[in-house]
Amino acid sequence: MISCRQCGRPVSELSSECPACGAVPAGSAPLECELHAGSQAVARCVVCGKPVCGDCATKTEGRFFCDVMAHRALAAETTVITGCASPFEADMIRENLAQAGLDIVVFSRNDFIVLFRSADPGVSDVRVRADQAEYAREILRNLALDEESRREPDRPL
Ligand SMILES: [Zn+2]
Ligand SMILES: [Zn+2]
Ligand SMILES: [Zn+2]
Repeated sequence: MISCRQCGRPVSELSSECPACGAVPAGSAPLECELHAGSQAVARCVVCGKPVCGDCATKTEGRFFCDVMAHRALAAETTVITGCASPFEADMIRENLAQAGLDIVVFSRNDFIVLFRSADPGVSDVRVRADQAEYAREILRNLALDEESRREPDRPL
């Protein structure tokens, strides 16, 4: 673990960004700003993961955001309930939460791998409205339990 140079929170050496504020940790692989080719990204937007340089990053309440104003509102109004490692998993979660009547926003960073050919794993954040977060987490817990029971071989009672 190292300390984030922006917020001081612990960051894994393997991480391409601080999970708390989005800052790119010192010593991590160089990352280019999505809007300004040739400019070093200082952070990734905490909502969509877009790499931003010093010119286009906005810092609000200690966290970095991209140029999309709506992402600041999203960060204030929604909560990340889970991450997922593949578009398939994201779709599955989206489907299950939508069935339960929840509004879901999935931000996939897979797009950015294509654009930037970075080594960042294709992690996506699943966000729901903050007041629905508990309910959504419960649905996901049940979903995980469901999967476990399906995977378990039949045991005699
Ligand atoms: Zn930080
Ligand atoms: Zn963003
Ligand atoms: Zn920029």
